[in-house]
Amino acid sequence: MFLEKSSKEQKAGWIEVVCGSMFSGKTEELIRRIKRANIAQQQTVIFKPSIDTRYAEEDVVSHDRRAVESIPVNSSEQILLMYGDATVIGIDEAQFFDDELPRVCNQLANRGIRVIVAGLDMDFQGNPFGPIPALLAIAEYVTKVHAICMRCGKLAQFSHRTVSNDKIVMLGETDTYEPLCRECYIAATQEHKPPAR
Ligand code: ZN
Repeated sequence: MFLEKSSKEQKAGWIEVVCGSMFSGKTEELIRRIKRANIAQQQTVIFKPSIDTRYAEEDVVSHDRRAVESIPVNSSEQILLMYGDATVIGIDEAQFFDDELPRVCNQLANRGIRVIVAGLDMDFQGNPFGPIPALLAIAEYVTKVHAICMRCGKLAQFSHRTVSNDKIVMLGETDTYEPLCRECYIAATQEHKPPAR
């Protein structure tokens, strides 16, 4: 549970990270927290990397198409210049931001802002993704959300790419990725390997 920031007398903000695989509900959780802050009459804004152009240019849209207005930015530094009067800042698809993002989030939190960051914790190869590991280290609150394994129904934490392409920055769609548990991920990645001679 997260309490909405109560009043102006609170000087320091904090950082929340919501991470997980594809289809784990990260963006839904970010939107839920932002909407609650709105209900509490707080000024909010959501930023996302301009690279994320899957759907509408200026909206954060989750896979279930719930849209909340958002601002695309080219670098994490831009967030510092563009947040205006917001006291709650959401950052979506944070894995695609540059390595300055943790510093920027710290700076915002030090200025009294509640920063909610959502992003993929691992790329499709199972490696920690971009600035997310560093953000997990500096955040006050970390929530890891899980998808359901498409092959066995257990909790899934891996985003398995179902087409072969080594490019890390390939944006997710249902037909490109499937969430898998560790066991099924190991089995699936072995399927891609050429047969041993
Ligand atoms: Zn499984």
